Amino acid sequence: MKRVILVVCDGLGRDWLGKGHTPFIDGCLRTGLRPADHRAVFPSVTRVSAASIATGCFPGSHGLYGNQVALMEQGRLVVSDVGLPGFVAHLRAVTGHALRRRTMADRLAAAGLRQVAYSNVSAGAAYFLDPEHSGWVLHRSGSYGPGGVALQGAEHLAISHDLDGDCAMTERFCTQVVPDNDIAVGILWLANPDLTLHHAALGGPEHLEALRVVDSLVEKTLGAVEQARERADILVGLCSDHGHETIGDAIHVGRWLASKGLATQIEQGRIAVASQGTAGLIYSTPDARAALLERLDEMALEPWAGRILDVETLRALGLGGDDALAAAVDTAPNARGMPGNRWLVADGEKAPEIGCGHHGGIGPDETRPFLALMHPRVTAAVIEDSTSLPDIAPTLLRFLGQPCDGMEGRSLIGGE
Ligand SMILES: [Zn+2]
Repeated sequence: MKRVILVVCDGLGRDWLGKGHTPFIDGCLRTGLRPADHRAVFPSVTRVSAASIATGCFPGSHGLYGNQVALMEQGRLVVSDVGLPGFVAHLRAVTGHALRRRTMADRLAAAGLRQVAYSNVSAGAAYFLDPEHSGWVLHRSGSYGPGGVALQGAEHLAISHDLDGDCAMTERFCTQVVPDNDIAVGILWLANPDLTLHHAALGGPEHLEALRVVDSLVEKTLGAVEQARERADILVGLCSDHGHETIGDAIHVGRWLASKGLATQIEQGRIAVASQGTAGLIYSTPDARAALLERLDEMALEPWAGRILDVETLRALGLGGDDALAAAVDTAPNARGMPGNRWLVADGEKAPEIGCGHHGGIGPDETRPFLALMHPRVTAAVIEDSTSLPDIAPTLLRFLGQPCDGMEGRSLIGGE
């Protein structure tokens, strides 16, 4: 009996490994198969990462472009928060679909196999692991089984959105998912260290404590896997989705565009900016495109603008296909404070947390997650080729003997 356990440590950039904060995970990297250059997707945000891991495809193909996205609603570009529990239903109502590609859960269900995901990140990031409800997704905002049947009472994952919640979730995952041979794929998506870093400094005591706790949760989970291996052939995937950069200052890109003569277009929903933390997606309707593009040369001269990504560059980064997406801005390092500080694209709602971590762009620290694959018959080795989040699903499916046709990622292990 072949099974897969996938553990995701949200926001754990690989530069924080091997420094004495994560002794157990460091040992996993030494004994497993690991890519030397594992890359985040763009934007390097959790909801997009979840959809990319689930589908084995880049965002341009699966269609979820950001943690916030602009959708064309009644002739206007309207920015929505993908993290809200109701967003999948909203996306379906506006566009007629959730993700444009099948997920691992969809493929497994078609083969009569079960996927069960426990997630303590945002509701959107949890639900985009399986938006069609082919398997089970347990999340504090609502837990669902196949067909979208709500799990009630003790079946629901009623946990807190913090480190304690990660601990409670792991405890339950180890007793209810890891030992259950009826589950082909079990996914445990921890909120930390990402959640802690959004409100604390990189390398500060809170961050290091979160790393210590996450390391202990991975150790606990893999201990449970060792016991379960007596009765099943289990591949373990251990990974993160992105890293973090330090925020030095914030810029509201929509207000900047408005100050450059585009206020009317923004008010009328013909131009919209969707914040991705250290990057912003800039959308426009066809009639506003020329006026927008004219301002981008000027934007490139602003101290907060690191790189303006045009449509061709976005397509090369795996983010093409939405006609309304006109460009993106990746923010610059900020001179104030520590070197490596970045500008945050403010969304006008949440107050920017200066000095804390954030991510979303193409900076060096935020785009370096880690991945390790562990199995009794997989020997320790380093994969030199560049890999990315879409390579995870084909790897897991290949191990299970399932086809991964139509996925953009490639399996990192041979067939068995
Ligand atoms: Zn994340």
